[in-house]
Amino acid sequence: MDTPEWSEGRKRAFIISTLRAGSKRWPAKWQTLNSAYVGIRLNEKTNREGKHYLCALCEGEFPSKEIHIDHKIPVTGPEGFTTWDDYIERLFCSKENLQAVCVGCHKEKTKEENAIRLHKMRERKNTK
Ligand SMILES: [Zn+2]
Repeated sequence: MDTPEWSEGRKRAFIISTLRAGSKRWPAKWQTLNSAYVGIRLNEKTNREGKHYLCALCEGEFPSKEIHIDHKIPVTGPEGFTTWDDYIERLFCSKENLQAVCVGCHKEKTKEENAIRLHKMRERKNTK
């Protein structure tokens, strides 16, 4: 079988997405979701009742579709990708580092984390 060589970057992206997909079944993840459960509420958008969860940041109540499980300490920190040991350690972390957040808050937090990471990256480039 003749498969073209993948670049290091592509290989890393592939492994990351595979690990990320697997982390959905990480017990601490659904434990975090379960502890954010507030009860059955009416979803105003769909006009149907469903399970709702508390966002740890804005304290709003959201249906499961609009809730993400966030790593308080981001999986990829300000220093960018370091080692697979670090990455796996952070991805499959304990419940204490996880929180249920709504899509809106998650987006904001990720945006901030990305901005910090980019800033640090530029800083490192300038000091070299
Ligand atoms: Zn929120």
